[in-house]
Amino acid sequence: MIRKPIFAANWKMNNGASATEDFIKSFLSKIQGENLPCDIVIAPPFISLPKLADLLHNAATGQNAHAIQIAAQNCSQFDSGAYTGEISVLMLREFFVHYVILGHSERRAIFGETAATINAKLKKAREGNLKPIFCIGETLAEREAGQLETVLRTQITGGLDGVSEKDLAETVIAYEPVWAIGTGVTATSQQAQDAHAFVRSVIAELYGAEAAARIRIQYGGSVKPGNAAELMACPDIDGALIGGAALEPQSFLEIIRNGSATAE
Ligand code: PEP
Repeated sequence: MIRKPIFAANWKMNNGASATEDFIKSFLSKIQGENLPCDIVIAPPFISLPKLADLLHNAATGQNAHAIQIAAQNCSQFDSGAYTGEISVLMLREFFVHYVILGHSERRAIFGETAATINAKLKKAREGNLKPIFCIGETLAEREAGQLETVLRTQITGGLDGVSEKDLAETVIAYEPVWAIGTGVTATSQQAQDAHAFVRSVIAELYGAEAAARIRIQYGGSVKPGNAAELMACPDIDGALIGGAALEPQSFLEIIRNGSATAE
């Protein structure tokens, strides 16, 4: 398998410290002794990072704790200083954060993040050795207007502008059709595969065939235990970014099990 599947939970603004503790204890007890052939990542709200880091890096929690890697849901494009409400990459590193979700459609639509901001954050993340999970995806109106490829190409070129091949190799792309996020409507496996293949072809144009063959592209948008296997069986889908269904330890685990069983 050239690309190891990656399953990432995006908890959004859910699970404070005590709910994080409950989730992790339950999840770790469920995966005890299991060797899952994939990367497992959890992105809690900032406020829960210390608790998550403590649970996962405390030997008493058990050896399987190291099977889980920590992501942040955002980071600042600045190093430090007068940026009220912001969290820097270096601050995240203190809590064993290895990944950072950038460009999520909620950040683009609700918080007005532009391609330039996302690009600056992505570069800052790489400077601090965080692995970006770079989200892209079209709205329903854009898809229906036949703009899917234009939108994806624009988001990719904007977000990755000036990003080196070396840094791209540490980046994961998450294709998340906006109309499928939190709606219960999932892209069909054919729609998802077509979009992923297109994204990979754009990466090939920009960085060459080898980089394109290596980059992991996750699907996100109402992934559930029941649809994970079919989606992950698609040749260009290398894991999932999961919101609602990753709030329950059992359902997150079933997505991972079902999805990694069919991932190519
Ligand atoms: C997301 O927020 O990235 C997401 C895919 O959410 P959901 O799984 O709830 O659609």
